[in-house]
Amino acid sequence: MDFSLTPEQEQFRESVRRFAEKNLAKGARERAHSSDYPWDVARLMAGQGLLGITVPEADGGQGGALIDAVIAIEAVASACPKSADVVQAGNFGPIRVLAEYGTKLQKERYLKKLLAGESVISVGMTEPEAGSAVTDLQTTATADKGGYRVNGSKIFTTHSKYAELMLVYVRFGPGVDGIGSVLVDTKGQGVRFGKPSKFMSGEEWVQTYFENAFVPADMVLLKEGGFKKQISGFNVERVGNAARSLALGRYAYEAARAWAMQRKQFGRLLCEFQGLQWKFSEMKIKLDAAQLLLYRAAVNADRGFPSAEETAIAKAFCNQAGFDIANESLQVMGGLGYTQEELVEYCVRRCRGWMIAGGSVEILKNRIAEAVFERTFSQRAGKS
Ligand SMILES: Cc1cc2nc3c(=O)[nH]c(=O)nc-3n(C[C@H](O)[C@H](O)[C@H](O)COP(=O)(O)OP(=O)(O)OC[C@H]3O[C@@H](n4cnc5c(N)ncnc54)[C@H](O)[C@@H]3O)c2cc1C
Repeated sequence: MDFSLTPEQEQFRESVRRFAEKNLAKGARERAHSSDYPWDVARLMAGQGLLGITVPEADGGQGGALIDAVIAIEAVASACPKSADVVQAGNFGPIRVLAEYGTKLQKERYLKKLLAGESVISVGMTEPEAGSAVTDLQTTATADKGGYRVNGSKIFTTHSKYAELMLVYVRFGPGVDGIGSVLVDTKGQGVRFGKPSKFMSGEEWVQTYFENAFVPADMVLLKEGGFKKQISGFNVERVGNAARSLALGRYAYEAARAWAMQRKQFGRLLCEFQGLQWKFSEMKIKLDAAQLLLYRAAVNADRGFPSAEETAIAKAFCNQAGFDIANESLQVMGGLGYTQEELVEYCVRRCRGWMIAGGSVEILKNRIAEAVFERTFSQRAGKS
């Protein structure tokens, strides 16, 4: 057993860190407080080979492993927390599902622009009546001359304000087996947006309505019966989500650590008070534990998808640890931590959202309990 990165991984981490320090550290605060997608950063990252790290070379990616993409998130976030979203969008989210299951035509049409940092793809799963119970989704795809008519609506979709392409979970028929997914051009006919709303993080989202939107048959990504495959791919998104929780927790911790070594009260440095030392010890324990769980999930995925159980454990722990650490760091920094002069309060707000997004901490714990007891537990009323 070896708990260190390989020399190649260390080298990659250093090169991304240097790139991020040089290009992203300046402007990190402005980026965090803007609700726009940082397109300039996306293009820069594309040029640096940081988009499509895990996408095969034949599809225009780098052909790397999931752990490489995790390392990239960590290195980028250490200089600019918001820019870690671009690494997520270009490696972990629906882009990875498209690269895995998409046809040659779908990849040719969309992947190139996504990998160039010129567009972004969103994923629409959640609906007003289907949140944690995602298999209750009601958006339908009904066969119609050479394609499908899609009807329904999606909420809380990240990137929904500007994504040109949306991977939409749809129902081709009844039950879990009736669920699949389609690729929808969001500028197409029959796609309408509601008024913009904001998450606590400052990110904007819009409700997306599909009103008889036509999707050609060749834009079906996964047909009915594809739900399990879709969720396997979604575990990659969860690893990216966990990585950002941990990375932003670490960002806040580093800011608080530096502050504790320079700020004096009662004639002493903050780091000399035992009450604060113990906070740092607890944060350090959480950082190390979260790191190990995250790397286990990523490394064991090798070049494929991560295991559902290891991903659930890593995400549940990183989400909670990232939030707790960012929150304690804010406390250590006192009034300054609570202001927008520092990015610590931003890290708190962002980490809070990841405890809900992409499978809430509670839903992940349900999944872990199934592994513990080696049986399933239906969450549905009247079933056990
Ligand atoms: C920042 C952010 C980004 C998001 N991005 C996207 C996106 O890009 N695409 C997308 O489709 N969706 C997105 N979502 C939506 C997200 O996936 C849902 O919010 C999430 O699945 C929870 O659904 P809900 O909000 O309807 O809460 P509910 O399902 O109503 O749950 C409410 C509470 O009850 C708990 N709960 C529910 N069922 C159980 C149970 N069986 N056992 C124990 N506890 C339970 C939940 O954990 C939660 O705490 C995003 C959400 C956030 C906050």
